[in-house]
Amino acid sequence: MQMPVANAGIIARKPEIVARLRSLLPFDAVIDDPLETKVYECDALSAYRCPPLVVVLPASTAETAMVLKACHEMGVPVVPRGSGTSLAGGAMPTADSIILGVARLDAVLETDYENRFIRVQSGRTNLSVTGAVETNGFFYAPDPSSQLACAIAGNIAMNSGGAHCLKYGVTTNNLLGVTMVTMAGEIIEFGGAYLDSGGYDLLGLICGSEGQLGVVTEATLRILAKPEGARPVLIGFDSNEVAGACVSDIIQAGVLPVAIEFMDRPVIRAAENFTKAGYPDVKALLIIEVEGSEAEITEQLEKIVEIAKRHNPVALRESQSAAESANIWKGRKAAFGAMGQINDYMCLDGTIPVSQLPQVLRRITELSQEYGLDVGNVFHAGDGNMHPLILYDANKAGDLETCEALGAEILKLCVEVGGCLTGEHGVGIEKRDLMYTQFNGDDLEIQMAVKDVFDPDWLLNPAKVFPLTASEARRA
Ligand SMILES: Cc1cc2nc3c(=O)[nH]c(=O)nc-3n(C[C@H](O)[C@H](O)[C@H](O)COP(=O)(O)OP(=O)(O)OC[C@H]3O[C@@H](n4cnc5c(N)ncnc54)[C@H](O)[C@@H]3O)c2cc1C
Repeated sequence: MQMPVANAGIIARKPEIVARLRSLLPFDAVIDDPLETKVYECDALSAYRCPPLVVVLPASTAETAMVLKACHEMGVPVVPRGSGTSLAGGAMPTADSIILGVARLDAVLETDYENRFIRVQSGRTNLSVTGAVETNGFFYAPDPSSQLACAIAGNIAMNSGGAHCLKYGVTTNNLLGVTMVTMAGEIIEFGGAYLDSGGYDLLGLICGSEGQLGVVTEATLRILAKPEGARPVLIGFDSNEVAGACVSDIIQAGVLPVAIEFMDRPVIRAAENFTKAGYPDVKALLIIEVEGSEAEITEQLEKIVEIAKRHNPVALRESQSAAESANIWKGRKAAFGAMGQINDYMCLDGTIPVSQLPQVLRRITELSQEYGLDVGNVFHAGDGNMHPLILYDANKAGDLETCEALGAEILKLCVEVGGCLTGEHGVGIEKRDLMYTQFNGDDLEIQMAVKDVFDPDWLLNPAKVFPLTASEARRA
């Protein structure tokens, strides 16, 4: 993975840049000590690192606008950052850039149960949005497994999903409006506290734009009334392919569970060791959750179990209590962390048509053998959103490069079978140079022309999303 050569002229101007930023923000909101900026050298794609020039932590939209305007005038690149949990390297800085972190923007601004929305500052964590409304019987649906830490800002930038997005949709389906600051410091409102906005769907453009178009400082989010009840069932199979075929059949049958999650043996064992979730020791496990009234739950589970039985499951267990259900989800949500305890890994994120699951899982096993690196699978199977975790040894020469090459093959496979390079983690630096697999030069030119409108000088997160060769002239 290549990054552009940092601009030595900007680095040389660090004292002047820091002084200007300090004139705008409280002293502790500007971090320039290299020991402290090191904390921001990477996000959750920790294979790649580079400390930023400076970190700024504004506490309001107005402060954000002042910082961006100043950086624009000084010609300094800015990398927006939420909580730094991106698995695609989206929040990784360059040595000549400023990290603009929104962690201090964490307030709830408005809650309206009658009209079912909440307005928050964008640094608020995903889980604490639900935390703010759950005592009134509401929740915010998109639930990335990182929801304890990740911020709404990052969720919007990556159009994040989660286990329960099969039924409720991803961030873009639950976002009503944003306040965004452009690189020039202009404050713009998109959408609002209502279902749709007049004119072009610019909110849809902002959601998933990976910090390329502006810095989101506030968001209006749809909240939903909690369902009457919910129950997961664990279904184990003796191969990945059969579990994949079962998922495909459930979706084809028109049953819509709230979640269908998949884990294979390496991940099941790691998650079980870590959380004692009570998972059976099988080759592949599905966690399928349905919700509604008791009668609705029973009816849906009967259909799902009937389909699963056609695939000869080796384990089948319905949750018997709320505590057991919570434990089942605790294991799934901790799966990435649990794998991280036993190995270095790179988490991929591609999407495929659900009907292709068995073939793609088989091919991933073959590729893993060809490249000599183990692969664990844990993903949102109902959405066809794959997350192969490639295990490698960061201390072994050449292993990271082999991992990158295997990752590229798997993502190309997703595109070949009619899927997409990204599911929910975004492009970042991880898939940036693979964009030509999915798009031709004209396609990319049009996408870059959209960035030209919002950020004509290409100062916002400039080394991400677009292949460096494609964006070179603009960045220069
Ligand atoms: C253990 C683990 C589990 C995960 N599970 C899931 C999952 O189930 N589903 C899922 O979708 N993702 C998942 N992720 C990935 C990650 O958590 C999401 O991409 C998340 O939305 C990132 O949020 P963040 O606040 O950490 O953003 P960051 O990592 O800080 O930034 C992500 C991107 O957003 C941009 N950005 C940040 N703030 C702003 C802003 N204010 N304005 C504009 N752009 C901004 C950044 O420049 C960067 O490009 C997981 C990650 C981990 C580590």
